[in-house]
Amino acid sequence: MHSVWESRQFHRTPDLVVIGAGIVGLFTALFHKRRYPHHHVIVLERGPFPSGASVKNAGFACFGSPSELLADLEKEGTDAMLARVESRWKGLLELRAELGDVNIGFEPSGGHEIYATHDPLYTRVVERFDALNEALRPIFGAAAFRWDDGAIAQLGLSGVQHLVRTDMEGPLDTGLMMGTLLRKVLAEGIFFRPRAEVVSLEETPAEVTLMLKDGEELKAANVVICTNGYARELLPDLDVVPARGQVLKTAPLMGLKLRGTFHYDEGFYYFRDHAGGVLLGGGRNLDIAGETTTADGTTPLVQDALEKLLREVIIPDQPFTIIQRWSGVMGMGASKTPIIERRSPRVAAAVRMGGMGVAIGIRVARQAAALVQ
Ligand SMILES: Cc1cc2nc3c(=O)[nH]c(=O)nc-3n(C[C@H](O)[C@H](O)[C@H](O)COP(=O)(O)OP(=O)(O)OC[C@H]3O[C@@H](n4cnc5c(N)ncnc54)[C@H](O)[C@@H]3O)c2cc1C
Repeated sequence: MHSVWESRQFHRTPDLVVIGAGIVGLFTALFHKRRYPHHHVIVLERGPFPSGASVKNAGFACFGSPSELLADLEKEGTDAMLARVESRWKGLLELRAELGDVNIGFEPSGGHEIYATHDPLYTRVVERFDALNEALRPIFGAAAFRWDDGAIAQLGLSGVQHLVRTDMEGPLDTGLMMGTLLRKVLAEGIFFRPRAEVVSLEETPAEVTLMLKDGEELKAANVVICTNGYARELLPDLDVVPARGQVLKTAPLMGLKLRGTFHYDEGFYYFRDHAGGVLLGGGRNLDIAGETTTADGTTPLVQDALEKLLREVIIPDQPFTIIQRWSGVMGMGASKTPIIERRSPRVAAAVRMGGMGVAIGIRVARQAAALVQ
């Protein structure tokens, strides 16, 4: 039995329910609410707080390393590659403008791709480096990348022969970013319900009924599913495969020289400085089948490879202590393009952010919100 107050404030049928409080879900709710200020909007999240990749990632504000962009160009053509870079770059600018650099902990310390000694990847990149910069020039108004081999020693790296730098990338604090976004969502009148896991949906011409794990049923006029790597749990026919990424973090290190974000080995590894230590992730390629999972967890195979990279390349000859290990689940598929589509008259989905949700999340959310009537 609800009181009249509860019925009018909390239990009236929401105009929009967003499932999933990641960067995409929270921005989708925000953009809808701004368009329809009188609408009742609720974000349902199965964790006690946002609990997906948006709070588990490496915190790179990046748009793609030269080797990734050249591989995309080869596979999909120049126009598709450029469109993706433009979307990531504009997304980062929009994110920074919407939340503020201070409130997302953005540091303009630069992005890098490094190439090991005698790395065949270097040969592939160097051949088309100038052409890549020229193709990207209309997006950035300047050369996006430059060779900076002289920085290798200054950064304390070992076994690295070549380095490309861009001044347009840098690390951010993804926890701060999500905290800022959640506070903004609440301040703009959206309701956030944590520990509310949706297990199924049923749609009629009049409404959508959402079944929650605790047995509660919730009615909504419209639903947007923003569960990314978990999307198939609610939409089994979607081309979204969970892709787990493992991360570790060292304790602060005396005299750490590393600054900025780094891509290594075709992007299979990524690392950065954080709070005086190193944050390092990757190694999914060592066990693609095993890492195709939504389960939280780390494995010795991947963690050992990460530690080896620390010892041999990132902080050679320096003792370190690992103070934290974790994993997060990305949503991937046959294409790198996210799925932003209406699934039925009242249900839409915005999922499959790949490894770039920080960059594209805000723009994906804008498109997802536009799908809702
Ligand atoms: C290790 C790692 C490193 C990464 N590094 C970077 C990086 O440096 N830069 C970058 O741009 N991107 C990075 N990414 C990718 C980026 O984090 C994601 O693309 C992005 O966060 C996806 O956002 P999202 O809102 O779509 O999904 P998520 O943040 O995963 O949000 C989905 C939410 O839905 C909730 N949920 C799921 N199912 C249900 C349900 N049934 N009911 C209710 N709630 C549900 C989940 O708990 C979760 O909070 C990384 C990802 C990982 C895993």
